[in-house]
Amino acid sequence: MSRKVFIADKPVKVKLLLAIVTSGALGLALMLFALTNHEKENAAQRVAEEVSTLGTIIAQNSAAALVFNDADAAQDTLASLTAAPNIIHATLYDLKGNIFASYASQHQLTNADAAFATAKMDLKKISREASQPRVKNGNVELFLPVVTDGEIIGSLHLIDNQSVLAKRMRKNYTLLMYVTIFVCLVTITLFLLLTYTISSPLQKLITAMQHVTAQKDYGIRVEKKNADEFGQLADSFNQMLGEIQARDAQLLLHQTHLEKTVESRTEELIHKNNLLVNQTHEAELAKDTAEKANRAKSEFLARMSHEIRTPMNGVLGMTELLLETTLSVRQKHLTNTIFRSGKTLLHLISEILDFSKIEAGKVVLEERPFNLRTLIEETAEIMSSRARKKGLEVSVLMPVDLPEVLVGDEHRVRQVLVNLVGNAIKFTHYGTVGIRVSYDERSVTDIGLRIEVQDTGVGINNEQRERIFMPFSQADGSTTRLFGGTGLGLAICKQLVELMQGNIGVDSAPDSGSTFWFTVKLATCTDAQISDDYKITGNKSIRALIVDDNPVNLEALKAQLLAWEMTADTVENGPAGLAILRQNTERGTPYDIALLDFEMPEMNGVELARAINADDRIHTLKLIMLSSGGQDSDLTQDDMSGIYRCLDKPVRQSDLYDCVVSALGVTRRHVADPVEPSHTRPKFARGARILVAEDNDVNQEVIRDMLELAGCQVDIVANGQDAVNAVAQCRYDLVLMDFHMPTMDGIEATRNIRQHEQTTHVTKPIPIVALTADVQKEVIEQSKNAGMNSYLSKPISREKLEQTLAIWLPLVAPQGIDSNATETKLAATDNQHSVLSGINWPGSPEALTKAIGLYLRDLPKYRDTLLNAIANGDANSVYQAAHTLKSSSAYLGFSELAALCTALERCGKSADLIPAQGLRNAFEDACEHARKTLSHVQQHPTATKKLNFPIR
Ligand code: ADP
Repeated sequence: MSRKVFIADKPVKVKLLLAIVTSGALGLALMLFALTNHEKENAAQRVAEEVSTLGTIIAQNSAAALVFNDADAAQDTLASLTAAPNIIHATLYDLKGNIFASYASQHQLTNADAAFATAKMDLKKISREASQPRVKNGNVELFLPVVTDGEIIGSLHLIDNQSVLAKRMRKNYTLLMYVTIFVCLVTITLFLLLTYTISSPLQKLITAMQHVTAQKDYGIRVEKKNADEFGQLADSFNQMLGEIQARDAQLLLHQTHLEKTVESRTEELIHKNNLLVNQTHEAELAKDTAEKANRAKSEFLARMSHEIRTPMNGVLGMTELLLETTLSVRQKHLTNTIFRSGKTLLHLISEILDFSKIEAGKVVLEERPFNLRTLIEETAEIMSSRARKKGLEVSVLMPVDLPEVLVGDEHRVRQVLVNLVGNAIKFTHYGTVGIRVSYDERSVTDIGLRIEVQDTGVGINNEQRERIFMPFSQADGSTTRLFGGTGLGLAICKQLVELMQGNIGVDSAPDSGSTFWFTVKLATCTDAQISDDYKITGNKSIRALIVDDNPVNLEALKAQLLAWEMTADTVENGPAGLAILRQNTERGTPYDIALLDFEMPEMNGVELARAINADDRIHTLKLIMLSSGGQDSDLTQDDMSGIYRCLDKPVRQSDLYDCVVSALGVTRRHVADPVEPSHTRPKFARGARILVAEDNDVNQEVIRDMLELAGCQVDIVANGQDAVNAVAQCRYDLVLMDFHMPTMDGIEATRNIRQHEQTTHVTKPIPIVALTADVQKEVIEQSKNAGMNSYLSKPISREKLEQTLAIWLPLVAPQGIDSNATETKLAATDNQHSVLSGINWPGSPEALTKAIGLYLRDLPKYRDTLLNAIANGDANSVYQAAHTLKSSSAYLGFSELAALCTALERCGKSADLIPAQGLRNAFEDACEHARKTLSHVQQHPTATKKLNFPIR
């Protein structure tokens, strides 16, 4: 901390006073000191001169006395020194240095001086020392020789007392002091006078300012005394105060005005606020009422559309029946028009029902694990039949590492996708429709996916793009007749996607096709195990060539094969494919397998296959034909020669995998291998007695046949109650129990059986194996809780069934059963099986023929039940019918129909039939396809050409 000068805080006045007085006094003192010193020196000089002159006179006057040795005369001469009071002592020495005469004034000598004055004096010394007076002990001393005729005859010693001088000097100092004090006093007085004239106006200004600051009194004025600078300062200050005062007054005026204004505005605001509060309240009431009305409207719409649909189904059903009667051309035309209009109306009603349901807030999202790949593959498969009718191809491109299980609302994702793909097909005349899935964002717990549906159709312009997601809006109203539709589909999709926290949009330009996209966030399933066993490797890397004119297919297939660690090349047409195959063979790097598109310009798949077969260099190549359903149904056996298998496009990942693996004969590494060679079949006791409880006729046939082939005795019942009765009456080794049956379901039947076993104290409870297509955790839990021992998932393969039998049946053949004969029958079946190799039929050809008959008999019944149930909103019947039809369709190879039944079954189970509406047309088409195909097989029992459904 810096040290403060002690006068730092003193008033300026004091500082000035101190400065002036100190400097004045100091200057004066210095000056006086110099003068006094000078005076002192002068006085000493004068005294020395006087003493010298006096000494010289006395010495001269004493010379005679010395010559004449007249001591009295000498004494008299010295006595004359009385006139010089400052000479306090005088001594006259003779030549020998003896005192001749002396003089002393009243003044006391110091002892030294006295001793000296009375001592004998060495004249030589005196003559040596005699010179200038010198100061000794505060006195001036002088030795003077007494000379006569140039000869020294004695000496004179004088002591001059300086006290006179000192006295004089003291007087001088006193005077000087008085002068100094006087000067100081005058200076101070002058200063005070001066400062008064300067500081007084300043002080007044300061006081005035302090007053203004403290009191905020701008009315005060400073008195102007003189016209000097202080006067001007006072004027300026007064003027400034005047201005401030004026402004203050003005400000006050404004403030008062402002306060009044604010007051009135505040009042106004309060008033308006009150009004607003009232209006908001009213608006809220109105909103509530409107929402209620809207909900009521939506509910009404939902109920109405539901009610309208029932008679509509009657109208359509009757019209369909009418169409099958004999009608005139005009009548047929009119009936057809009624039928088409009825269908359009029904579709419209369904969409209104959907929309109303969402609007009424009745749609709750599900959070369940599902397989997105399967969903997309199923949707593509279902929709491609419609696309095929227009000559369009549906292609799918998904990331190969798409997690197998994701959690979210499967139905809603499916509904949006079906809608977008349906639109793409509707608005595209030629070209392709592509479904493309890509990652939007990925985290440990969630996956954001972007699903795009790309078409090469009519496209949409900018202005239309704005509108199409709004309800009841279509890009071009004038095309409504051309394309049909309600304008509700995209609005429903938007609402659903937003419910799933995603976005939906479209990129498009007129005549350049459209890409509709939506994003969804799905949780990853921690329980799901992603298998990395799906790799196809041989002794060396397996080389594949893909020939397809559709770039999306090329990209998708190549990505898939690469993911299985194969080497894959692609070419866009047949001739290029042929060339590359030949080149590589010649180079020693032949291909192992080729995937050929059926329909390609210039050279189609069959022509390419023929060319490959005809070329010895490459004819061993395994060929897989990829066709759009139905294209290959007219092919002869000749056409098919050299082709290992046909797969429907879009190809399912699992189908392609199975097909490639079996074509190459490589070892597949994943566990569930349905194509086990017969000699590895598990061992189990033949001749066991088995009860099958299953309500579906086709399923009954399938299982009976498989069990009989396995050497078992089979009893079949169609419901749970009959199963309970049968178990009570007869001893069975195993019960295969369907879950869903009329009268009593499998769960309840099992409970009854277990209860009966307890009451009758049965020691060895009968093994009960559930037959279910729904292998979800809860379902399995439920079956276990009821007392079931295990389950078999539908569709049941012979291998799976035999594995189950091996677990539950003792390895001892009961008497009377020829197990060898059974094995022979099995072997024979294996051979015959190849006759209808298109179907993955697990039983004998006879059983297949029988099953086809039963299926054809029941198909219309189940189809109508299901469609009516959808129309009537009867979720339970939808579930039952879809469930029953699902497995029999799967057995007969109608994977598309089975997939649709699975989707419809889920809708029924969750009691939400909105998505079912969207699947209805595809379902009808698939049923028709199945009916036609099987009728054809029935009429041509020896047909060996490949049946037109995917191989499972
Ligand atoms: P709609 O039942 O009329 O098809 P949507 O809501 O599904 O109702 O579609 C609204 C409109 O958006 C359609 O009428 C059509 O004009 C346009 N649109 C939808 N998808 C496509 C597409 N892929 N290509 C061209 N226009 C489309």
